[in-house]
Amino acid sequence: MSGSVLPGGRPDRPEEECAVFGVFAPGEDVARMACFGLQALQHRGQESAGIAVGDGETVMAAKDLGLVTQVFDEATLAALEGFVAVGHARYSTSGGAASWEAAQPHISAIDDVLIALAHNGTLVNTSRLRARLVDEGVQFRSNTDSEVAAKVIGQVTRATHHLRNGIRRAMEDLSGAYAMVLASPDSLYAFRDPNGIRPLCIGELPDGRGWVVSSETCGLDIVGARYVRDVAPGEIVRFNEDGMHAEQGVPAGRPAACIFEYVYFARPDSVIDGQSVYQARRSMGRILAQEAPVEADLVLGVPDSGVPPALGFAAESGIPYADGIVKNRYVGRTFIEPTQAMRQLGIRLKLNPLRSVIEGQRLVVIDDSIVRGNTSKKLVQMLRDAGAAEVHLRIVSPEVRWPCFYGIDTDTRDQLIAANMTLDEMNAWIGSDTLAFISLAGLRAAVPDARCQGFCDACFTGDYPVAVPEAAARKSGATMRRDASEDA
Ligand code: SF4
Repeated sequence: MSGSVLPGGRPDRPEEECAVFGVFAPGEDVARMACFGLQALQHRGQESAGIAVGDGETVMAAKDLGLVTQVFDEATLAALEGFVAVGHARYSTSGGAASWEAAQPHISAIDDVLIALAHNGTLVNTSRLRARLVDEGVQFRSNTDSEVAAKVIGQVTRATHHLRNGIRRAMEDLSGAYAMVLASPDSLYAFRDPNGIRPLCIGELPDGRGWVVSSETCGLDIVGARYVRDVAPGEIVRFNEDGMHAEQGVPAGRPAACIFEYVYFARPDSVIDGQSVYQARRSMGRILAQEAPVEADLVLGVPDSGVPPALGFAAESGIPYADGIVKNRYVGRTFIEPTQAMRQLGIRLKLNPLRSVIEGQRLVVIDDSIVRGNTSKKLVQMLRDAGAAEVHLRIVSPEVRWPCFYGIDTDTRDQLIAANMTLDEMNAWIGSDTLAFISLAGLRAAVPDARCQGFCDACFTGDYPVAVPEAAARKSGATMRRDASEDA
């Protein structure tokens, strides 16, 4: 994935909101395991990181702005002693800009007992819930939807003296996308929205040493956990000294796993709902080669997420694959703003073409998506400047025409290039020789093994699986097809 064009600038890619990680493992250094898990999931959020640990008596948390390795050092980890932990890496969408208060896990007090909640996704109906809680005297430290969820769970648990009641009630009240992990002083909980929009999987440590929950399986791999299964839509799974206990918190709804996870967000070495992300990306390239063939000399993939589909495109078309674009891996969404002069360098801060490979060649360039089009335009110009004879752009997601309300930071409709231009107009504006997107049917065919029965593809189709508040929809330029009752 090429990510944002400029460090600190608004991304020209859909950006993932968060990563969550949880571990229940008595006798293990759970804070360190959470730290490693979050490092494996760092691609899902780079603005802040946090870990909370339960020791049987209480829950302690440490969090701050920055990458996982910037936030946690030996001393910080050593202070987090316990046997249950949850961790979080954040990319802010709900709650605005990065701030310490918005960093997770969020702590909620239930009388004298603390719980810590980490959330991936976006809730679409928290305004009224927040107002109700404020009326009841609950104090908030941030304006995030996730803190509302933490406080709802805390309130109900305080009233019923039963944490699972609090979680179940929150699942009934909350609407939107959520994959959550929660640490109480002695237990780990994992739960997922009824549509299963954001991923969440369960792993087991060897020799019965404990349990791990992670946004992606790459988080299990790094701590040596064996993949067991995904948390089912609407399910609550609890881990404590009695082992793993699962129950249906709320009835499962229309299955709607985010299909963009396979295109761009997830790491290629992850497996989601039984489907290898890498193999899905290879298939996308193969299918795209069938749908939109072109005569060319070389196939290039835009690093990182464009590389597996480029290999698939090359295999299917017979056109050789070449490494023609090099990514600078150490320029990310850091807090170091480039100067204006450096901004002029644009995409070159992240990607650089290999002139010796590209010069005089007709290129097929495979990228994951086009949101506003600025990155694609600069990419094509950069390749031409490096001597490319032709640049044929092939995109392994359909046209992004609708904003996402479920944890992905996409623009309003008026900024989505595919919502405002025809294919020919986009091709002319971007400056490519030809431009083609995979069809929605082609994309679905590329993930045949996913165990979920259905996908969310709302950013391509406008068919939202969970009703979105009218006010938010209007603001984003999206016209909802179904009634929404919240946040007017
Ligand atoms: S709208 Fe698109 S990015 Fe958002 S959850 Fe659905 S498929 Fe994923």
